[in-house]
Amino acid sequence: MSEAGSDRQLGDFIKGRLLFIEVYCQEHGLDKEKTLAAVREAALRLAGTPEREQFLKDKVFSGVVLASAYFPEWVDGVFLEAMTVALKGPGAPLYTTSSKRPCITSEAGRFNAHRQADTVFKAFFQGKKPQDWLKYTFLSIYRQCYGVDAANKFSVEEAGPGHFRVTVDNRGLEKASRMDCSTGVGYLYGALETLGALDIVVTHDQCGADAAFAGKLCVFDVTWT
Ligand SMILES: [Zn+2]
Repeated sequence: MSEAGSDRQLGDFIKGRLLFIEVYCQEHGLDKEKTLAAVREAALRLAGTPEREQFLKDKVFSGVVLASAYFPEWVDGVFLEAMTVALKGPGAPLYTTSSKRPCITSEAGRFNAHRQADTVFKAFFQGKKPQDWLKYTFLSIYRQCYGVDAANKFSVEEAGPGHFRVTVDNRGLEKASRMDCSTGVGYLYGALETLGALDIVVTHDQCGADAAFAGKLCVFDVTWT
């Protein structure tokens, strides 16, 4: 298994984004082909450089995306923004700081948690209680997706019954953005949901990717009953 630069094994996430669009179209009565074409168009426009545009054409929009594929971290950011624009129109919120106010990026994260719990990460979900999953297992998933260095800077702290604080160090990472953290809000929500937790609230006020919290860590506050 080799990694080039900041490439991570994001294939399964990108695959999940494409499936999310498909399901979203079904649920909202949208034409799948037209919507995918709009996502592609928006993504190519947001790519920023001719090289990145070509990469998207060759690797993301050319057919099958393999779960085991490696992608540079900028790909998901472009994809998330393009999805929001294509599904909700320009000007729609690109991120949320609370699971109480879902948006496309958080819903995409939630969708991926449901899907991965049933497929690639099934072993990490099966028979787990919400608190045990969050305390012990989430780290394994995080490590698999973002690597050992990132996982070493990740922590979960129990603040009380059904109340946890997840701290992630995204400082200096290319992927760090409010959008990426918004998928994290949705992922945590969706994962706990599949494990049977009720009244889940995930809040992400302190975000290191936000200019207001520059230099700080990302803190996700998670509660359920
Ligand atoms: Zn954040």
